[in-house]
Order: sequence, then C-alpha cells, then structure tokens
Amino acid sequence: MTTPVKVTFASSRPKELRVDATLPRLLDRMLEGWNFKKRFKGKSVAIKMHLGGNAGYSTIHPYLAGRVVKAVKDAGGQPFVTDSPGAVASARERGYTAETLGAPIVAVAGPFDKHVYARKVNFRTFKTAFIAGTIVEADAMIVLSHGKGHGLSGFGGAIKNIAMGCVDGATRGAIHRLSSSSINWDASKCTGCLLCRDNCPNGAITFKDGKIDIFDHACKYCMHCQRACPKGAITVDPSGYRNFQHGMALTVRETVKPFEPGRVFYITALLNITPFCDCWGFTTPSIVPDIGILASDDILAIEQAAIDLIKAEDFIAGSLPPPLKRTGKGHLLEQIHGKNPYVQVEEAARLKLGSRAYRLAEVK
Ligand code: SF4
Ligand code: SF4
Repeated sequence: MTTPVKVTFASSRPKELRVDATLPRLLDRMLEGWNFKKRFKGKSVAIKMHLGGNAGYSTIHPYLAGRVVKAVKDAGGQPFVTDSPGAVASARERGYTAETLGAPIVAVAGPFDKHVYARKVNFRTFKTAFIAGTIVEADAMIVLSHGKGHGLSGFGGAIKNIAMGCVDGATRGAIHRLSSSSINWDASKCTGCLLCRDNCPNGAITFKDGKIDIFDHACKYCMHCQRACPKGAITVDPSGYRNFQHGMALTVRETVKPFEPGRVFYITALLNITPFCDCWGFTTPSIVPDIGILASDDILAIEQAAIDLIKAEDFIAGSLPPPLKRTGKGHLLEQIHGKNPYVQVEEAARLKLGSRAYRLAEVK
C-alpha cells in the first residue's frame, strides 16, 4: 500500500480573532516545519510565481510571497522571484517589486526569452522543451503557485506553473498545439455555411477571411460542431486534451529532473480562486471561498490535494461571468470548463513524478 505523502495546510479561515491565527502567521509556522535550512542554506533559490498581467489583481498577494522570500533568507538561502519576461516587466503595476518582495525579480528565460536549455521530449508534435535558464542554473526552486481554474486545463496550479512558466514562449506554443490539434478543419470541404459556429454552445468558433479559428480555452469537446457540419469538414478528437496534459507533465519532468532530491518545494495558495488563469490579465469573482495555503515536497500530492479542496458544494452563486455557466458533471472546474482537472495529475503520475496519495496536516 502507498504511504500517503504529507501536505501541510494553513487555513485562511481563522479559528480565533487574533493575528497569530491568521493566514500569514500560519504560513510562517508552516514553512518553519519544513526545514528550509537543510533544503536551501547557501543555495540560490528560484521562487517561481505567476506575477499576472494587465489588470489582474487576484495573483498571490506580495505580502504572502514576501513571507516565503523571508523564510528562505532566514534559512540562509539566496532567493529570487521569477516569471516570464512580460509578467516581470509589468509586475510593478500589480505591487510586485524587489522592495515589496524582499528579493530581485528576474525574467525566467532572460529579458528576451532566449536564455534556455534544450531538452528532448519527442512527444507527437512536441519535440523539444526549452527550459528557462534561470531555473536550470538555480540550486533549488520553490514553485509558488496560485491555484485557480483554467480554460484549457481545468485547473492551474503547480504543474501549470512549471510547464507554462519555466519555459520560453516557443515551448508554451508547442504544448498548446497538442491540444489545438484535437479539432481538425478541412478547408476543401467547407462551404462557409457557419452552422458549426452557430451550433457551438460555448462561442469557441469564429471565422476570419474564410478560415476557422477555434478558441481552445472555450471549447468543451462537446462535438456539436462536428455533428452540425453538413459536409464533414470538422472532426473533433477529445484525446488532444490528454495530449496537452501529457506535454505539460513531460515538461515538468524535464524541469525538475536535474535538481538534487529535496531541492524543489511546492506551495499552492488556494485564494481568490477565479475560474480563469492569471494570464488572462483580469480578475473575475472567486467561484468558491478562500481555502488557504498548501505546502509539500511532492508535486502530485499537492496538486491532488488542491483540486480535491475546491468543492462543487462551495460554489458561490453569481460568480461566473457570462458566457460561463455550470454544465455537465464532475468536479466544479469540469462543470465550468468541460475539462477534467485531474487529467494533468494522472499524466504526471504516469511519469512517476510523485504520489497522488496524500495526508493533509493542518497547521495550528
Ligand atoms: S467541440 Fe463543442 S465547444 Fe468545441 S468548438 Fe465544437 S461545438 Fe464548440
Ligand atoms: S458547418 Fe462545416 S461546412 Fe459549414 S462552415 Fe462549419 S465547417 Fe464549414
């Protein structure tokens, strides 16, 4: 029988009205319990965050991120915060500076997105992952993720933070193409009747200059377009969704593989749990109340726990912006996006990147 892996949990719901019972203090105590000295003393530590974009304000609060930076410094480590060049360039607008965080903010693959190391993955059309240079060159990494919904992968947490955030733009595109290849359109058969567009319940199809454009984030693989097309010009293959998740899992494997054991640590904030990813560049209401912060040294355990804690029965009525609505069955995020959020965990488990069996230890 698999021994469950420890995932510590700091609840955002204080049990008493005193500062020591609130989330930042619980976070401090939670991190103290993970022996950062042993992990990070004398080491350069990349703290990989998603710093958001444009008008988004639901990424991890700079104060909380600063507590993680402080914990690394107190342990004798040398932290720096890192994300994609675009997010870093505008981070100041959303409150992230070297002063507020207590550590420099560095573009993960350099300011021009060119500082990368090639790693062969050879999965379908995704041949090479270009891993960001600052991550490869760091001694250790903390994957500090904001757990929330995601139009393309159901859930965005640690796996997405690494697979989309620790690579260059070309690699992000190559992983995305594993998903978009799931809908095929044969221009030679298409008469331009627009029945596919008009029958898509999710507004995922547009036509421009006679060419179809399918927005993967909105597509729920319902196949209505395929059924509506009188010419057989569209075919939908839902397996593209799993291919996308497998591409992400492979990228995670290649990113974490070179680190010594114990040098990659995961923290996931289940706060401001919006339906969409921070890369949308705006914020909509939370779909469930704040939950808290998780920490573990196992990516699968923390990801599984994070998804499990977002429960359909906690859904906040009125929180979904149109045209989103809850349809279908399964996990709350699957009801919203039509995509099972556990598939990415399944694919990472196939690559033996950790253990899905976890035990939640709440910090007091
Ligand atoms: S599969 Fe469904 S959601 Fe996706 S483009 Fe076709 S009709 Fe729209
Ligand atoms: S329904 Fe078929 S034929 Fe009509 S526009 Fe769409 S793809 Fe073309």
